[in-house]
Amino acid sequence: FAKERGRNHYQLYTPDQGKRVGKKMMLANGLRTALANDEFFLQYQPQFNLETSEIVGVEALIRWRHPEFGLISPAEFIPVAEETGIIVDIGKWVLKTACKQNKEWQEAGLPNVNMAVNVSVKQFQHRDFIKGIKKVLTETRLDSRYLELEMTESIMQNSEYLHGVLSELREMGVKLSMDDFGTGYSSLSLLRYLPIDNLKIDKSFIDGIQVDENAVSIIKTIIDMGMNLNMNIIAEGVENKEQAIFLKKNNCNLAQGYLFSKPLPAGKIRRILEGRVVGNHKVI
Ligand code: C2E
Ligand code: MG
Ligand code: MG
Ligand code: MG
Repeated sequence: FAKERGRNHYQLYTPDQGKRVGKKMMLANGLRTALANDEFFLQYQPQFNLETSEIVGVEALIRWRHPEFGLISPAEFIPVAEETGIIVDIGKWVLKTACKQNKEWQEAGLPNVNMAVNVSVKQFQHRDFIKGIKKVLTETRLDSRYLELEMTESIMQNSEYLHGVLSELREMGVKLSMDDFGTGYSSLSLLRYLPIDNLKIDKSFIDGIQVDENAVSIIKTIIDMGMNLNMNIIAEGVENKEQAIFLKKNNCNLAQGYLFSKPLPAGKIRRILEGRVVGNHKVI
């Protein structure tokens, strides 16, 4: 930035903006080497069937242990990775690591669960996306039915191309989830014709369960609509019993959140799979 200052560009930035740009550049540069240096790892958050208390899947969530700055949240670095395009390579690593892990659990004789992987729009838009998915499934020998891809509503922008990609994934047997549902822009008619298996109700609505009548109405509407469209409904960010009881009573079949379990390292998930039911879940 010294150079820019020298060229009288300094006035374009307030000190705060300068800091932000500086941090972003730091992240962007760091992301390039993080893959090579093995600084990423995955944690897995269990997803439960509220009716049977069984674990039905896990969501893979990326973590970055920076050698200098420690743990950096994906909420912070994923947007930067998307902007710089490196999300495509990071995404491949996540997919491979997650599928491999799931296969490992299966080969150890543990019950089969779904592996949900977050996928950025940038990855879906990449011309080799389907090829990459096929490659990962072949290499890890994971049955496609145990892979679930989570996308956000921002994907709705590119509908015709998107429809082709999603349809091909569906034909391959891969499951598709709409993440953070209700917070973005979703056209109802698109939702009707896209081959989506699961709707994940965003945490912001779950937070409103005991406090906000509007949130409650929206949740009920989402559940109703999802059921009519033959989708599973997953509540995300369930933090207390009251929320879980409400969801169960209102036919939301699946849930994840700190009430049941935080995202965990693979070894701890293994122990949950061995016991099949987590004690904490039985509270409802
Ligand atoms: P998301 O996919 O909506 O994931 C849910 C986030 O909520 C996770 O945050 C999870 O740890 C957190 N969470 C789950 N239950 C609770 C709860 O009960 N209370 C609270 N307060 N939080 C809860 P995390 O791991 O920090 O991830 C943030 C976001 O980063 C994710 O939101 C997702 O959009 C993105 N992300 C994470 N991993 C990946 C990845 O591998 N690829 C891509 N493209 N994005 C990722
Ligand atoms: Mg997600
Ligand atoms: Mg989500
Ligand atoms: Mg969310």
